[in-house]
Amino acid sequence: MIKDKVVIITGASSGIGEESAKLLAAKGAKVVLGARREDKLKQLVEGIQKTGGEAVYKVMDVVNPADNTAIVELAQKTYGRVDVIFLNAGIMPSSPLSALKTNEWNQMVDINIKGVLNGVAAVLPGFIAQKSGQILATSSVAGLKAYPNGAVYGGTKWFVRDFMEVLRMESAQEGTNIRTTTIYPAAINTELLSTITDERTAAGMTSLYEQYGISAVRVADIVAYAIDQPEDTTVNEITMGPSRQS
Ligand code: NDP
Repeated sequence: MIKDKVVIITGASSGIGEESAKLLAAKGAKVVLGARREDKLKQLVEGIQKTGGEAVYKVMDVVNPADNTAIVELAQKTYGRVDVIFLNAGIMPSSPLSALKTNEWNQMVDINIKGVLNGVAAVLPGFIAQKSGQILATSSVAGLKAYPNGAVYGGTKWFVRDFMEVLRMESAQEGTNIRTTTIYPAAINTELLSTITDERTAAGMTSLYEQYGISAVRVADIVAYAIDQPEDTTVNEITMGPSRQS
């Protein structure tokens, strides 16, 4: 059921978003890709098109509501509709609270929380009007369990969990037929650790990822699985990660 679906992906320029874009396009989806780095998006879209897939991109910052509206409009203009949005953009500049990296706390709130809110606000009116749609979001195992040095990051991911579950329940109650899927990955090898500026936290996380990290392709497989389900079935939540990571 992936074939011909119009899928918007935020945070598509690397890691989980990039691998999801490639896999979904290979399975016949029309992917509409957003992030801030144009060079990476352009390269990705060209690669997908070269292999016969359909893709367009929009340089966007999820923090800006107008950018979220613009990517939805691009999808509608290019492909006529939106079926799925994967709210995946995120950063993880983790640190101990005592380091008082308040700018980074605010950036995480802006991108990981407000970015999700902005994406949902942009897509929801169309989904309600067409009485169908699917919203996926990348939370984290840090949205299920507390980790030292991860208070603010984890808090943003706990928010995603609560928000997506309420969205699912309200959509069911209101009969809008909007399906939600929240994914909780553990250590996935991507560019995510590059956002950590606290040296001790960076060293600890790098060592953990070197030991356990698995490919972002594994998350893309989960994204494809959730989108592939028939209309009457919702994959509410999936927790996944390296088999060896406790
Ligand atoms: P990457 O750093 O590889 O990807 C993050 C993506 O988010 C990039 O495409 C980046 O693009 C984009 N992004 C960041 N800020 C913004 C913004 N303001 N506006 C638009 N796009 C933005 O890491 P991952 O692939 O790992 O991260 C994807 C998601 O997965 C994140 O939400 C992360 O929290 C979550 N996650 C990751 C785990 C892991 O172990 N890797 C585990 C659990 C969850 P650009 O810089 O071009 O804007």
